[in-house]
Amino acid sequence: MEYERIPAVNELHRPYTAAADRYEHFGYRRVGESGLRLPPLSLGLWWNFGDNRPFDSQREILRHAFDHGINHFDLANNYGPPAGSAEENFGRMMRKDFKAYRNELLISSKAGYNMWPGPYGTFGSRKYLLASCEASLEKMGLDYVDIFYSHRFDPDTPIEETIGALDTLVRQGKATYVGISSYSAERTAEAKAIADDLGTPLVIHQPSYNILNPWVEHGLLQTLQKENMGAIAFTPLAQGLLTDKYLSTTDVERQGGRRSLESQLTEENLTKVRRLNEIAQQREQSLAQMSLAWLLRDGAATSVLIGASSTKQLDENLGALKNLEFTQAELSSIAEIAQGDAGIDWWRASAIS
Ligand code: NAP
Repeated sequence: MEYERIPAVNELHRPYTAAADRYEHFGYRRVGESGLRLPPLSLGLWWNFGDNRPFDSQREILRHAFDHGINHFDLANNYGPPAGSAEENFGRMMRKDFKAYRNELLISSKAGYNMWPGPYGTFGSRKYLLASCEASLEKMGLDYVDIFYSHRFDPDTPIEETIGALDTLVRQGKATYVGISSYSAERTAEAKAIADDLGTPLVIHQPSYNILNPWVEHGLLQTLQKENMGAIAFTPLAQGLLTDKYLSTTDVERQGGRRSLESQLTEENLTKVRRLNEIAQQREQSLAQMSLAWLLRDGAATSVLIGASSTKQLDENLGALKNLEFTQAELSSIAEIAQGDAGIDWWRASAIS
């Protein structure tokens, strides 16, 4: 009797066993004075993990990240597209691949931007934050997240209420640590004082921060240091502007469907990018690698949240960790090139309110 040939099993559909040497790639950096430690690069699931991307490629990226020591995955209620689908897809990956590794993983989520209709589907009320955290846990199939963030400051809700809601989540065992995102230096100090009174571990701030948008250096980083809080930088590559993507073309098609950079691809910005690329080449790094390394220099940021649409990008970005040292001359040249408003401070409105 002739048997049908059994098709080769796709690598991804074999049970996943994490690489044994996953913790040998880099050291983990302490978040303020807390016991929390983060990898220098963490992976964000804002784009590339929604229903518009093949599940298998998402799975490959997450496995690859964890195998290389990236044990922090950052989500939010509205990541997708569509909003919410990234948490759902992540939940599937948790069940299929990462269940056995839950204690090794740092998983974060957030609430603050528009999620469902009506007044309790956005900003920072107690009602929204508690309901949203519950919904996120359900989607991801988790009992708790390691960090839960207020995604943005709410000018219409007392800050005591927002931070009080974070405190409740910690007391309910639904969040281990809490954080704030895109809060100004002043609001950060206020939030920390309230959290300290409540005994809530508000240990981390998530601001946008990159070479072309160093707003945090004018007050926020100093406040975080004073308050013993960590900083995890988002949009480190200015959504792709600080990579080699646009060095030879300004074809916006290359953006892969994310926010349109059309108005940022000015001759002035591209000149900056080309000059930054020359410094990167002298350092034997790609522009993406230098941009990530710059954020980690002298502990400026505790961790950097990268996005990646392929394992190739992930590998390139991990390569940044080979050289985090900058000469004074390099830093001065970078600062001189980056001067002026590059028009990429997309989250500024949250931070100044
Ligand atoms: P980003 O680093 O500015 O942009 C990431 C994108 O750059 C990737 O999706 C990819 O674009 C491209 N890229 C990455 N590595 C590359 C490489 N080596 N070469 C060429 N292109 C490369 O980061 P982001 O996606 O804006 O944000 C990162 C994470 O920060 C998010 O996932 C999220 O977790 C967090 N975040 C938080 C907030 C907040 O309000 N708290 C806001 C924004 C982001 P393609 O996908 O087009 O290939």
